[in-house]
Amino acid sequence: MLVVMRPHASDAEIARVIEMIQSKGLTPHPLPGATRTAIGMTGNTIAVGKDAFEVLPGVEEAIRVTKPYKLASREMKKDDTLVHTAMGDIGLKNFTMIAGPCSVEDEATTMKTAEFLLSRGIRFMRAGAFKPRTSPYSFQGLGLEGLKLLAKARETTGIGIVTELMDVEHAAAVEEASDIIQIGTRNMQNFSLLKRVGLCRKPVLLKRGMCATLEEWLMAAEYIMAGGNYDVILCERGVRTFSDHSRNTLDLSVIPPAKVLTHLPIFVDPSHGTGKRQYVAPMALASMAAGADGLMIEAHPDPDHALSDSSQTVDFHTLDEMLGQLKQLAVIMNKQM
Ligand code: PEP
Ligand code: MN
Repeated sequence: MLVVMRPHASDAEIARVIEMIQSKGLTPHPLPGATRTAIGMTGNTIAVGKDAFEVLPGVEEAIRVTKPYKLASREMKKDDTLVHTAMGDIGLKNFTMIAGPCSVEDEATTMKTAEFLLSRGIRFMRAGAFKPRTSPYSFQGLGLEGLKLLAKARETTGIGIVTELMDVEHAAAVEEASDIIQIGTRNMQNFSLLKRVGLCRKPVLLKRGMCATLEEWLMAAEYIMAGGNYDVILCERGVRTFSDHSRNTLDLSVIPPAKVLTHLPIFVDPSHGTGKRQYVAPMALASMAAGADGLMIEAHPDPDHALSDSSQTVDFHTLDEMLGQLKQLAVIMNKQM
């Protein structure tokens, strides 16, 4: 349920609504807006009547949210969410690039990549220290050592860090080292992990599960938001289909319906989506055309020798060309890059 306050409702009136929500064993979520405040509530609201709220002073109306996800829904919050970071805002008119190697490999590669990205105006570097590999014999990532390399790159260059959290045990360390915490496709329904990042105070990039429906994905976002972390960025990265011409089927058709159902920004990862470096640029452009708010691209100074996901990783020259094309398209799409 959503309690919409009158435009000039006082702080005391808002506090009264919050108390009433709490007295019913529910959790209040104040959502300040441009002209008025609304207060969402989560928990088991079925037995709670609208009247109890509508009689309170300062309340305009109480609205039942019909979707199973509440905080993530447009019913609860009409305006697009702008995610704030020290490296700039994500969403609305902004088109944000995140690029970098699949894995953190060593100091030289990490620094070289950070410097290249910043020289091209890209303010976020991706690189996994904890890697969810299909085979236990593949490179598993540098773990905590990798986080140290990322922290050093951030400290010396000022680049924003996006890195994956795989388990609850490393939540504090990953939160500390990152500007955006990545939750991978294999963990989209790891509910204890989602609850844990709900307590973090860094934005979360939530990749779509490789077999997840849009509703399941939004329910996963809801887990994070229900914990009080409202800064969720969705990321489409391809789903499983019968097609074998690409690693996954990049489902760009999910973007327009996602924009209808949720106010959260949505990114696309065409690297994991295609699995082949020559297909990354066309799908990156298509992502922007379909309404994405940003991209996550695997890029490496020497992709042929990357320690993971080499075949889908582009070199800096290709990334540069892609950027040039994206900037042209951004003019048509009315996006800022
Ligand atoms: C990654 O970004 O390196 C990654 C493992 O992605 P996904 O979870 O989408 O497979
Ligand atoms: Mn990868």
